[in-house]
Amino acid sequence: MKALTFSYDDGVTQDRHLVEIFNRYGLHGTFNLNSGLLKEGEGWFDVEWQRRITHVDSSEVKALYRGHEIAVHSKTHANLGTVDDIHLHEEIFDDKAALEALLGYEIVGMAYPYGTVDDRVVAMVRDAGIKYARRTDPSHNFEFPAEPLLWHHTCHHAVDNLFDHAKAFLDLEPDKPQIFSIWGHSYEFDVRGDWDRFERFCEMMAGRDDIAYVTNREALHV
Ligand SMILES: [Zn+2]
Repeated sequence: MKALTFSYDDGVTQDRHLVEIFNRYGLHGTFNLNSGLLKEGEGWFDVEWQRRITHVDSSEVKALYRGHEIAVHSKTHANLGTVDDIHLHEEIFDDKAALEALLGYEIVGMAYPYGTVDDRVVAMVRDAGIKYARRTDPSHNFEFPAEPLLWHHTCHHAVDNLFDHAKAFLDLEPDKPQIFSIWGHSYEFDVRGDWDRFERFCEMMAGRDDIAYVTNREALHV
């Protein structure tokens, strides 16, 4: 009746440590990747955070994320609300096809880059055969999404009240299925220096008989 899921974006090198943590605590993540950007050493310089953030290499994707879910995040991390139809098609269909070729299984999930989504984007995502897609603004609740292609996760991992949500979820004795879904970017743990906080959260949530530790795909049964 209770599921805990995680959704991490952009396929950055800090995912290696995040996967280690998930594996240690028996948790499963969904990782949303940009297939056109998976080149060792390439990335971007974040001016605000004064740091260079780099992508994982496509050659390590299959082994690194084994046991977790890979989902679409557009081919080049485009702002999908602003690109023309031809590019929109490419960003979604090509990313899905490239990730499927890399991993050998059907991809059914997605996270919208920058959280940008409108009716045209949703229609294209549906045409591509994607069954659920995540936005960035939080719901701050544990409801399953009424419209899976417009899914608001419970919250970002850095919110002040993460541990309040955690306690509320642990105490919950629901009479219908509930989901605690968290999203973020693993580089944020390096930038904020708060890996410990997140590990405390994982430790607190792990090993419970009444919680299913699943990927987003498994939680939605798609
Ligand atoms: Zn992103």
